[in-house]
Amino acid sequence: MCAEKHQGGKEGYWASYQQELNRLAETKDAACLRLGREWSDSEKRTKKYRCPRCRRWVAVNVHLVPRTVITRMGTVAYRRHYYYCHKCSFGWYPRDKKLGFESEDMTGDVIALAMDFVANDPFELAASRLRLHHEIERSATGLKLLFERQSAPLADAEKSAPVVPLPLTEANAHQPVVIMNDGSMIRQTTGWHEIKLMSIGMLGETQRVFLAETRDKERFERLLFDSVGFAKLRSREVLWLADGAPYNWGLQERLCPHAEGLVDFMHVREHLYTCAVEVFGEEDSCTALFVDSASRQLLDSRANAVIAQLKECHLMTPRTQRGKRQAAALLDLWQYLEANQSRLNYRKFIEAGWPIGSGAIESAHRWVIQRRMKQSGMMWSAANAQRMATLRALYASVGPERFYGFLKKSQEMAA
Ligand SMILES: [Zn+2]
Repeated sequence: MCAEKHQGGKEGYWASYQQELNRLAETKDAACLRLGREWSDSEKRTKKYRCPRCRRWVAVNVHLVPRTVITRMGTVAYRRHYYYCHKCSFGWYPRDKKLGFESEDMTGDVIALAMDFVANDPFELAASRLRLHHEIERSATGLKLLFERQSAPLADAEKSAPVVPLPLTEANAHQPVVIMNDGSMIRQTTGWHEIKLMSIGMLGETQRVFLAETRDKERFERLLFDSVGFAKLRSREVLWLADGAPYNWGLQERLCPHAEGLVDFMHVREHLYTCAVEVFGEEDSCTALFVDSASRQLLDSRANAVIAQLKECHLMTPRTQRGKRQAAALLDLWQYLEANQSRLNYRKFIEAGWPIGSGAIESAHRWVIQRRMKQSGMMWSAANAQRMATLRALYASVGPERFYGFLKKSQEMAA
C-alpha cells in the first residue's frame, strides 16, 4: 500500500512537471509568434531604400516574402519585402540586414551554441548534440558551412585578428613568461601537413594564449608579432621551449632575442634513443643504458661530455656496412647536440624550478589540435585546416564563454 501511494505520488509529480514544461513551451511559442510579427515588414508601409551599390532609390520588388530563423526560444517566422535594383541587378532584404540575419538564419546566441559544438565535435556529432541539447535542427553540412563562414575572417585575417591579451599583470611581473612551440601532423587532402602551435603563458598559471598556423611561416611570425605583442615581453624574463629544429630558434631569435631557450627534453631523449637503436639495436640492453646515462649527463648540463663521448665512439666504428650506419647515427646526434648547445642548460632550469618540457607541449597539441582535427578518417582542405586550427587555438585561449565574442569581433574587423 505504501509502495502504491509512493508510485501515485511520483506519477503525480511527473504529471505536474510535464504540465509546467508544456506551459513553458506554449509561452515560448507565443513569444516566437509575437517576435515574428514585430520583425515583419508592414504590408502597407513600403518605403523606398537606396541601392547599396549605386545609391539609387529602389522600390519594393516582392512583398512579404516569408522566412524562418532559429532563436533560443524556437523558430521565428517573419515576412519581409524584397528590393531589387534593375541597374545593378542587385537584390536584397533591408529587413534582414537590420535584424542581422543577412548571412545566417540564426540569432547570435544560437550561433554561439552551434559554434561551441562545432569547435569541439566532428560535424555529424555536433549536429546530433545540438539537436539533443537545444532542439536546434541543423545538418552536419549546414554546420560545416556555418563553421566556414564564421571562422574565415579570423583565419584569413592578415593582420587584423582580434588580440587575445597575454596574461601579463603587475602581480605576475616577477614570474617568467613560458613560450612553447611545436608542430603536429594533420591529414589534408594534399597529404600530411604540419600545424605549428605556439603557447604563451606565465610560469605556474594555467591560462595560456595559443596560436596555430598551417600555411606560411611568415604569416605566423607577423601574426605573432602584431597581435600577440612580443614587444611587451622585452621587460620580462622569457623561457622558450621547443624542439631542436632550426626554424624554432630562428623564430625565437627574431621575435624574442633575450629569451632563454631550451630544447624540449623529451625531444632530446627521442634523439638519444634513435641513435642508440642504430648503434646497439633495439633489443640490446645497452640502448636503454646509453639513453639513461646520456640523459643524466645532459640534465646535469654536461652536453660537452656527451658530445666528446659520441665523437670518440664515432672514431671507433668499424668500416663495415653496419659500422657506417652507426657512424652516421652518432654524427647526427652530436651535430644535433652541438647545434643546440646553448639551449641545453637543463640544470639551470631544474634548479630554478622551470619546466624542461615536454608534457605541456604534447598535451597542448592533443587538447588544442588533435582532439578535434586528428580523429580517424578525418581529412581537411588546406583552408579548413587553418580555420579549425585557428578556432581551436582561440577556444583554448579564451574559453567557451568568451569564444563567440572574439569570433564576432573578428568578423566586425574584417567587414
Ligand atoms: Zn543599384
